[in-house]
Amino acid sequence: MKKAKLTGRIVTPEDPNYEQARTNNNLNNPKYPSLIVFCQRTKDVVNALKWARENNEPFRIRSGRHSYENFSLLNKGLVIDISDINKMAVNLQDMSVRIDAGANLGKVYRELWENGVTIPAGTESSVGVVGLTLGGGIGMLSRPFGLTCDNLLEIEMVIASGQEGAQIIQSNRQKNNDLFWASCGGGGGNFGIVTSLTFKLHAISDVSLFSITWGWNDFELAFDTWQKWAPYTDVRLTSQIELKSKEVGEIVAQGEFVGSVADLKKLLRPLRKAGSPTNIWIKEVPYIKAVEFFDQPSGNRPALRKSSGSFIEKPLPFEAIKKMKEFLTNAPNLNSTIWQQSLRGAVSEVAPNRTAYYYRNALMAQEYNTSWKKPDEEEENIEWVEHLRRALSPYTAGDYVNFPDRFIQDWPTAYYGRNFRRLREVKTKYDPFNVFQFPQSIPPVRKWI
Ligand SMILES: Cc1cc2nc3c(=O)[nH]c(=O)nc-3n(C[C@H](O)[C@H](O)[C@H](O)COP(=O)(O)OP(=O)(O)OC[C@H]3O[C@@H](n4cnc5c(N)ncnc54)[C@H](O)[C@@H]3O)c2cc1C
Repeated sequence: MKKAKLTGRIVTPEDPNYEQARTNNNLNNPKYPSLIVFCQRTKDVVNALKWARENNEPFRIRSGRHSYENFSLLNKGLVIDISDINKMAVNLQDMSVRIDAGANLGKVYRELWENGVTIPAGTESSVGVVGLTLGGGIGMLSRPFGLTCDNLLEIEMVIASGQEGAQIIQSNRQKNNDLFWASCGGGGGNFGIVTSLTFKLHAISDVSLFSITWGWNDFELAFDTWQKWAPYTDVRLTSQIELKSKEVGEIVAQGEFVGSVADLKKLLRPLRKAGSPTNIWIKEVPYIKAVEFFDQPSGNRPALRKSSGSFIEKPLPFEAIKKMKEFLTNAPNLNSTIWQQSLRGAVSEVAPNRTAYYYRNALMAQEYNTSWKKPDEEEENIEWVEHLRRALSPYTAGDYVNFPDRFIQDWPTAYYGRNFRRLREVKTKYDPFNVFQFPQSIPPVRKWI
């Protein structure tokens, strides 16, 4: 049989653009692959998978480069990068869009906005739509329209077949529906290489935004008021709160409402009345301006970072709020923050076993973030996140698979709860030889040699 060849744009360590081609969003824990293939079409993806299998070459899949733990990179081995495959086909007749899996959120939002439509997805424009969707996809339209994966209609994937082969398959609610189930929250890199995603579209025009800032003295009151309000208010309103380090001394709640400023003002009353806000604004903007507002340039730029996260299923008691305040008082630097985003609404209308995304009943998703400049600051920053995660764990549940953390020992339960068993069965069916693997990948049920 004819041997497979690597096709597409190939970058090796000798190439002058290797550093750019290699670098992910997180510069911490860097990796140095021996080959990166930028696939230009689906055939290149098939060839890359066959080539890797025939040559027994370890490999990883990459699209938007935003994996917190750089699971889309490896030392030595091959990176199969699909970011050059990024076209979109909008169909306003049946309100759907087929997006090649290399597109990032910025492109997706812009092209959809030109057609007066959108999908609910994340905030940073450089995040890949594929990595985000496979893990669930949380964003500023989650409460009215659900997770990104809840809007998925079909995916195309290149899977491993036979001893050394590769095969393109489609999955949706009818066809290969177990693989489709697993792709809605099971996380990237586990089953195959996604080459396109088809989503249901939502019409969108103007939305209303708000921002409320408090000083450090209002820490407990501002957070407690927000957490008892944000998951329960009108489902058209999704919001987030950022608790910044004491050095910055700010608590900032912001949100997006699919409705008028007048209605938003009424909904915001409990928040506006809490403590003594130092800054409040509310305004109506075209939807794309809201997208740009939540797209922080600092999130898109590569940096030395450590993040972790969890879900909150019951409002945090006072002692937990105090712990957050203590950690932010002793934060390693100005960039250390704790961030929460409100959930429920359409997210919790779906049962926890209906898709692989398990934490449907959570009130909020939560993230612990820090970034730093010099390598010798690494230890302190990483310890801060780890100690914070452990200190809050009595009050939290699991962790969102898109906020992976290599220090979580029982990651199967943390990411997948009771859905892990079924995920392993799907893995066994579609990837019995465990061709797709990384440090926290789902293992097949049987051990293969
Ligand atoms: C700054 C920043 C902002 C973020 N904001 C949000 C947010 O608002 N909402 C949210 O829900 N999440 C958010 N995330 C988390 C984000 O969803 C995950 O990091 C996601 O996995 C990124 O996908 P990617 O394609 O950009 O990354 P990559 O690093 O390319 O890939 C991530 C994972 O998916 C796998 N993968 C990549 N391409 C494919 C493919 N074609 N087929 C199969 N597997 C593939 C990789 O192997 C890897 O395991 C954010 C992350 C960062 C760093």
